[in-house]
Amino acid sequence: MIIVLKDGTTKEQIILFKAALEEKYSVTVNTWHGVGSTVLGLIGDTTAIDEDWINAQEIVDNVKRVQEPYKKANRKFHPDNTVIELPTGQKIGDGSLCIMAGPCSVESEEQINFIAERVKTAGASFLRGGAFKPRTSPYSFQGLKSEGLDLLKGARKATGLPIVTEIMSTAHIDMFEGVDIIQVGARNMQNFELLKQLGKTNKPILLKRGLSSTIEEWIMSAEYIMAGGNDNVILCERGIRTFETATRNTLDLSAVPIVKKLTHLPVIVDPSHATGKESLVQQMSLAAVASGADGLMIEVHNDPRHALSDGAQSLTPDQFDILAQKAFALKKAYDEING
Ligand code: PEP
Ligand code: MN
Repeated sequence: MIIVLKDGTTKEQIILFKAALEEKYSVTVNTWHGVGSTVLGLIGDTTAIDEDWINAQEIVDNVKRVQEPYKKANRKFHPDNTVIELPTGQKIGDGSLCIMAGPCSVESEEQINFIAERVKTAGASFLRGGAFKPRTSPYSFQGLKSEGLDLLKGARKATGLPIVTEIMSTAHIDMFEGVDIIQVGARNMQNFELLKQLGKTNKPILLKRGLSSTIEEWIMSAEYIMAGGNDNVILCERGIRTFETATRNTLDLSAVPIVKKLTHLPVIVDPSHATGKESLVQQMSLAAVASGADGLMIEVHNDPRHALSDGAQSLTPDQFDILAQKAFALKKAYDEING
């Protein structure tokens, strides 16, 4: 971290400020005296330094971070890829392509069991499905809640597919005990209380990127979960808000290689919520594989036209069969090309 002091700062002020920094943050402070201004260079672990506090000091002109503000998620301190392994053997981040598929919302026993069977046959290794739905309108279908969780567990029993489902409140954590991967949706990416509580569990957490979040903010949310002691975080790029209206969101695929370089966590892509359009999901899934993603999350519905949520972006099981075949074939080619 570099701190530029204001012109006219006295020697005594510099000595006092350096001492305060060294004591408060246990860092070493180097000093360069320029023609007019003085520059301080802070060496050591600067993750906990409060930039606002530094900026608020009367003698400080400006401050710049040269190190990332996250430590646990940082590849610099953990060069090997994190591989999430479930007790049932499924792995995410081990170099294979992991596909999570299922309906936007769990709607009925017949619906979830039928879709689970079909996505499993096509090669998916996880069943997704929302029981608690974050809907823009309070009048839209809000999910089957605990009944939805029970239906997911039933589909897991029938197919053996582990389940991924979204949590919306800290009050529900106990209810999610039997869930294999807990999803934090885009709208809750910065629900810090929820992230802290999930950090105390040992469940894998699928953390979606917030609608308007920068990559650094997204990684900082992963850091919240990891700082609590839970290192099992999977990141999911699901598109961000831009000026473009032709798609529901804008799929930021460059985030995949960037985040994989900055962190050691697995990164998957959700082209369903990113595009909002069934006709774009296959191509964007293949593009996600080519971007180096560790997996895909795809919405699949037995009858998209009558889906209770997100029908326009849901694939039929037949369409999903083709997507999965192509995605696995492309992944094979990708691995050959990249050695
Ligand atoms: C979902 O996966 O069902 C969902 C609501 O996604 P997002 O949080 O990315 O909008
Ligand atoms: Mn959805």
